[in-house]
Amino acid sequence: LVVLSNVNKHFGALHVLQDIDLSIARGEVVVVIGPSGSGKSTLCRTINRLETIDSGTITLDGKPLPAEGRELARLRADVGMVFQSFNLFAHKTVLENVMLGQLKVRKTGQAAAREKAAALLERVGVGSQADKYPAQLSGGQQQRVAIARALAMDPKVMLFDEPTSALDPEMINEVLEVMQQLAREGMTMVVVTHEMGFARSAANRVVFMADGKILEEAAPEQFFSNPRSDRAKDFLSKIL
Ligand code: ATP
Ligand code: MG
Repeated sequence: LVVLSNVNKHFGALHVLQDIDLSIARGEVVVVIGPSGSGKSTLCRTINRLETIDSGTITLDGKPLPAEGRELARLRADVGMVFQSFNLFAHKTVLENVMLGQLKVRKTGQAAAREKAAALLERVGVGSQADKYPAQLSGGQQQRVAIARALAMDPKVMLFDEPTSALDPEMINEVLEVMQQLAREGMTMVVVTHEMGFARSAANRVVFMADGKILEEAAPEQFFSNPRSDRAKDFLSKIL
């Protein structure tokens, strides 16, 4: 579904993505882990073209990523993104947040957008919060709204960049459970996370990045029990 081949990206002199080859199949859940600064967020951001790349190709559903304009807006809708900071519109209600993209990008009618937003909020467990403003919700609730907002666009793939790292511990599980459910329902997902429990139980594959390179790719049970590279061993010894 998503194929990166030989992708390179620099920030000035920093070679932040180095010859990245990665294929994500439909329905697959890929967890990306690695030390800080290894390029995990940049990798995610290239997949919905929040970052340009210097060389290589990225395709979604066999088509190269569009560079600009309406095509790019559609791509962004096809690639749902959930960030560490929830990025909800503060001056709009929870329901309006989940309706907005449907109205603007998908050109859904008001009534249908409202109905879908309400159903999605119900699905992520915050149906009763629909008329509140984001600041009136807990972090875990806001993050679930952000997930609902991305799902409202019927994305082909969902990218999660450390979706629980800004949350208080007691709220982490409620967000991970929503993600687990999505994974079970067959959503294609790329998840950057330090939650190794989630990686073990939900991932089809773990990708380990360091210094802008993919050093290992393996099934979670294999990766966690028997990492091949010293970098991965070292990383796991610090995090587990
Ligand atoms: P973390 O675990 O801390 O989130 P990461 O693996 O997500 O790290 P990235 O955010 O992708 O890492 O950053 C990779 C490298 O690129 C870092 O050295 C970072 O400082 C650098 N970098 C990221 N964004 C920019 C930017 N817009 N301009 C310049 N350098 C950047
Ligand atoms: Mg990051």
